[in-house]
Amino acid sequence: MLKRSLFALAALCALSTPAQAQDRAVAVTFDDLPYQAADAVLCDPAQAMALTEDFVGMLRPLETRAAAFVNEGKVCEERRAGLLPALLNVWLDAGLDLGNHTFCHLNIHRNTVETYLDDVDQGAPATRAVLEARGRALRFFRHPFLFTGETTEKKAAIAAGLAGRGYTVAPVTLDNNDWMFAAVYRKAEADGDEALKTRVGEAYVAHMAVVMDHWEPYSAELTGGREPAQVLLLHANTLNRDWYPRIHALYQARGYRFVTLDEALADPVYGHADDYVRANGVSWLHRWTASEGRPIRWEPEPPKWIVDAWEAAN
Ligand SMILES: [Zn+2]
Repeated sequence: MLKRSLFALAALCALSTPAQAQDRAVAVTFDDLPYQAADAVLCDPAQAMALTEDFVGMLRPLETRAAAFVNEGKVCEERRAGLLPALLNVWLDAGLDLGNHTFCHLNIHRNTVETYLDDVDQGAPATRAVLEARGRALRFFRHPFLFTGETTEKKAAIAAGLAGRGYTVAPVTLDNNDWMFAAVYRKAEADGDEALKTRVGEAYVAHMAVVMDHWEPYSAELTGGREPAQVLLLHANTLNRDWYPRIHALYQARGYRFVTLDEALADPVYGHADDYVRANGVSWLHRWTASEGRPIRWEPEPPKWIVDAWEAAN
């Protein structure tokens, strides 16, 4: 009897080994709050609130523990004081975190450091106020376009300005162009083309699996074969409102745990040196790889028909 129990235990251990080898963690982040939508929609309290409540309602049962990044200037000035805090509180009520993404999604490559940091400051008050009303603090910053500065001097000045304001930069490892699929999806919605919406959604889920096939082994090259805790960049839009549950299921199937941004950033990989300076916005996995003097291997692009449809719509 004892022998049989020991055998059963040994079998259990053998079964659990592959699961442990697949122990993966991801912090999910959503950028461009309140929403990627037309200016008129974000100036209409009923529409903006409906979009926000539907999106957060989709997230709530999934327990993503996500952080979301706000462009306060996306809500028109005449509605901002009343509407913006109401929208942000929907996110906080669901147990999610908020960070600063600048006031107007400023492009650092076309502006001075001073203008950029002014936009950071202008992008903070409503987000800070709703967090502080709950005894919390505004701590995280996400660079628009993932641009961190196109010269060494500018990059250093922005980093110092952000640190001096008490911000923790929220890097991205799992970059994926969801925004491009989302723009094509919005056009299909506007045209009432349900078949195209489904085709875009399916292509988006398939693309996400393809980019993960790229990022997972690539990230492990920085950490001696261990996959670090990842940070996934997505955006608040109708594509993710309708299709994020499929992305979430994909991550679960690959053995990911959903962790907070704080938990992910505790991984030592986020202390890696980053001396990558170029006028583009890329994953921190590329920045760290380049900083080690190793060649960057770019992630797969979206399918050509998505790129073409996006270009036609812009
Ligand atoms: Zn953004």
